[in-house]
Amino acid sequence: MNILSVNAGSSSLKFTLIELPSRNVLASGLFEKIGMTDSMYTIKFNGEKITKTTNLYDHSVAVSKLIEELLENNIVDSLEEIEGVGHRILHGGSEFTKSLILNEDILQRISKYNELGPLHNPANIMGVKAFMKVLPNVLNVGVFDTTFHQTMAEEEYLYPVPYEWYTKYGIRKYGFHGTSHRFIYKTISEYFKRDDLKVISCHIGNGGSLCAINGGKVVDTTMGFTPLAGIMMGTRSGDIDPSIIPFVMKKTGKTAEEIVNDLNKKSGLLGISGISSDSRDVENASKEGNERAILAQNMYAQKIANFIAMYNNLLDGADVITLTAGVGENSSVMRKLICERIKSLGVLIDEERNNCRGEFKLISSDNSKIPVYVVPTNEELMIALDTMELIS
Ligand code: ADP
Repeated sequence: MNILSVNAGSSSLKFTLIELPSRNVLASGLFEKIGMTDSMYTIKFNGEKITKTTNLYDHSVAVSKLIEELLENNIVDSLEEIEGVGHRILHGGSEFTKSLILNEDILQRISKYNELGPLHNPANIMGVKAFMKVLPNVLNVGVFDTTFHQTMAEEEYLYPVPYEWYTKYGIRKYGFHGTSHRFIYKTISEYFKRDDLKVISCHIGNGGSLCAINGGKVVDTTMGFTPLAGIMMGTRSGDIDPSIIPFVMKKTGKTAEEIVNDLNKKSGLLGISGISSDSRDVENASKEGNERAILAQNMYAQKIANFIAMYNNLLDGADVITLTAGVGENSSVMRKLICERIKSLGVLIDEERNNCRGEFKLISSDNSKIPVYVVPTNEELMIALDTMELIS
């Protein structure tokens, strides 16, 4: 069975065509600048790569072009070979607790959460509508970033603020990266052949979040009402004292939205190092002795370590710690800095094992009290697996 896994942005559309159950990637690619005159797309398949510049008026035109290319390049022989399309959808509020088959009515219900994910949700919905139009006979499945976290207890997802903010406006922790954390839990629990594992899953990419999972149920996660909360990230601040916002507004004359934009886009590794949001650049600068880069790296590792220690307490002792995403999978330097800061939990890193990139691997020593694994994430595959299950 071939499934298209799709992530639609406001002017982009990322796709992976996956054959299941073999998990073979038949093609992947990205359509960019949709709606602009210089739109372009790249498709990779069979060791080949095609890049074209064309005018993609809207997402439906991009989807039509995608189908045309899949057929022309014999990636599929007919449209019938695409049996389902799985869509990444950012926000399903508290209403959607599972992935599900989409229809007009459900899309309408999802759009209620557009104000909670204004940059992503309308675009995600637009992507679904484009596929409904171009491939009317193919089922579409919605896979939400928020659903995995819906098992959190009230005492974890509520903020200690006036209760009416929750009942009237839906102010609560929703959590994000749920598809990645769910994939990591699935991978590690299959590896250990256990369904009662207590896992601290650390998704550390440009965005980043940690998730405490007990037997497949999320106990807590670091992102909150929005993805701005939790650990320090590439460009996001993570948790800060909210009183900073009105104070800086007065000092700079900026609006609240502008300050929140600074917290989302000009903070984190970038804000502290003044160099880059990319941990590779920060690592290189810190090797050369750049003090702010060193400071940024240390702060980044410490915030993550602090949450790991907190989640170990929340889980009453974790069975395993996993690291994933761009930094977690690739940066041996950052992994070492994090593990060195959780020695009090009995975690011991094995430097030789830690010298790895992008592979499933144990990186802690045999006498580490909690084993630490690098587990590559694969959100596209998780979306495809959900889609297969629902349409079968
Ligand atoms: P996103 O949140 O955008 O999906 P990714 O998970 O792709 O982010 O992570 C991107 C980040 O991964 C980059 O910003 C970079 O900091 C980091 N990264 C990728 N490769 C390496 C590497 N070899 N060493 C250190 N950091 C890396």
